[in-house]
Parts: sequence; C-alpha cells; structure tokens
Amino acid sequence: MPRGAKPSLFVSPGDRFGHGVVLLGDEVRITRPGAAVTERGVMVACDCGSTYAASLSSLNRGFVTSCGCGGQDWDEQILRRQIRALARAAGYKVRSLTLVRDDAG
Ligand SMILES: [Zn+2]
Repeated sequence: MPRGAKPSLFVSPGDRFGHGVVLLGDEVRITRPGAAVTERGVMVACDCGSTYAASLSSLNRGFVTSCGCGGQDWDEQILRRQIRALARAAGYKVRSLTLVRDDAG
C-alpha cells in the first residue's frame, strides 16, 4: 500500500458483515450503475454459498449484509418462493407444497 494513501476503510478476510464473510483482503473495483467513479470493494461469501462483491463503504455502513438473498439462505420461505417461480415458468401451479428439512447426516 503506497504511503500517504492509507484508506479510511479497511476490512480483513474473515470479517463478518451480516450474512457475508470477507473472502479476500485483495480489493476489487466496484462500478455502481450510473456512477462515474469506481469504489473500493472486496469479495464476500454469503452464508447461502454465493459470493458477491461489495464496496467497503456499503459494508461498513451496513448497507450490504447478504448477496441479495436477504440471509434467508435456503430456508423454507425462499425455497417455496423459488419452487413456485420455477413451476410458474414451466406452466405449473403449486397446489400443495410440503417441505421437510432433512437434518439427518
Ligand atoms: Zn446469500
């Protein structure tokens, strides 16, 4: 890191922000839609298994706490929604849907 360019924001691998854990200390550049400048960001692993890039400022302000799954990683609510969406796309309706968590193993 160049001297005199000490960032005001800093995260370390393993730092947790909501449902996301910082993967790498290496920074990535994030371009916001409509923004002329890029932001400093890092790759983050969500509890649901997805990875995403989040800007440091968003992380530190608590704006970004998941990949977008809302942290509802694979719980019944999001599964039901996804199953319904898949069914609808295929021309089906879900009439009754029972989800039983398989905790064995
Ligand atoms: Zn997620």
